[in-house]
Amino acid sequence: MIYMDYAATTPVDGRVFEAMQPYFSASFGNPSSVHRYGQIAEAAIDTAREKVASVLGCRVDEVIFTSCGSESDNLALRGAALAMREKTGASWIITSHVEHHAVSKTAEQLEKYYGFQVEWLEVDENGMVTPEAVKKAVCDKTALVSVMYANNEIGTINPIRAIAEICRKNNILFHTDAVQAAAYLPVNVDALGVDMMSLGGHKFYGPKGVGALYIRKGTLLIPHLTGGGQESGFRAGTQNVPYIVGFAEALWLANEEREKRTAHVRPLRDRIIGSVLETIPDSQLTGHLESRLPNHASFVFKDVDGNLLLQLLDSAGFACSSGSACKTGNPEPSEVVTSLGLTRDWALGSLRVTLGVDSTVEYVDEFLKTLPTLVNKARQLGSNS
Ligand SMILES: *Cc1c(COP(=O)(O)O)cnc(C)c1O
Repeated sequence: MIYMDYAATTPVDGRVFEAMQPYFSASFGNPSSVHRYGQIAEAAIDTAREKVASVLGCRVDEVIFTSCGSESDNLALRGAALAMREKTGASWIITSHVEHHAVSKTAEQLEKYYGFQVEWLEVDENGMVTPEAVKKAVCDKTALVSVMYANNEIGTINPIRAIAEICRKNNILFHTDAVQAAAYLPVNVDALGVDMMSLGGHKFYGPKGVGALYIRKGTLLIPHLTGGGQESGFRAGTQNVPYIVGFAEALWLANEEREKRTAHVRPLRDRIIGSVLETIPDSQLTGHLESRLPNHASFVFKDVDGNLLLQLLDSAGFACSSGSACKTGNPEPSEVVTSLGLTRDWALGSLRVTLGVDSTVEYVDEFLKTLPTLVNKARQLGSNS
């Protein structure tokens, strides 16, 4: 089996696993305890927070550990929207049509149950949110803008810095979901100009079930997990010490090895994009050709059932994705692919191929040898039914 779905999740790096291990057993203390067991656990969290802060270029008290990237998105949107409305009366949230569900479903909930209004930004044909679109949308009733750094389904990298600048000029909070981006793109919060940024450990060789939210000093947020005063009162609950240690180690390594990892995957990605478009009729790249994640190739094939293609690939020994982590049996095309303006006969046939540390040119070539036949087969099977 060849794994080509690193955008869905990554295996835990051996060095990360090793760093985590002591905190499951020998150093199992509760970081809030006064005694020495607690002090050791607390010191591990302090060190982890310092590591994360040094990668993000921020203060240690601006890093909040959470249970996953989704939770970070939830805390940022719900927490900031509620706090901003209380402070200024602003009740509009601006976000895009291509966000991860952790953002879009939260925005929908804020509209349905909390009385906010949501403005959905259109994207261009590459799935990019343009600064112009944000500029046109903001007004004095805007509480918050949330635009993702890099898209998980189509790989497009958004011009975050320019969008952040518009928000800052208009005194509007800006959040970015960097869960997919952090594996390959720089995440210095001042260079990006963001007020809040979500991260998730398992997209960069850290463990699942742990994330972080950067919150710029002075940003008001209503916590959604209330209880003890952990994480500066932003997120109650005894911290998951081993996972936080693993998260920090993985982010640190991603930052250290960014260039090396990028140089490894980029040519493999380009080999896939070039070959697929050349050898498979009625195929299109989705997302931006240049401004895209270096490990990310995504396509649509006309008149192909994307889920069927994934099953054929799986049987042939290749683990790929249709884009979102949706399970089979959902006949609706993804909102992200639809927002590119593709018609249904194209949008249903999406395929995402994402690379990582264990990808090799041999694996890629085996894949490229097999894929055209399977696309053909999917087309034939589809037209018979
Ligand atoms: C994976 C992902 C998430 C969710 O992160 P979890 O840690 O799985 O909850 C959010 N946003 C993007 C862009 C992602 O790729």
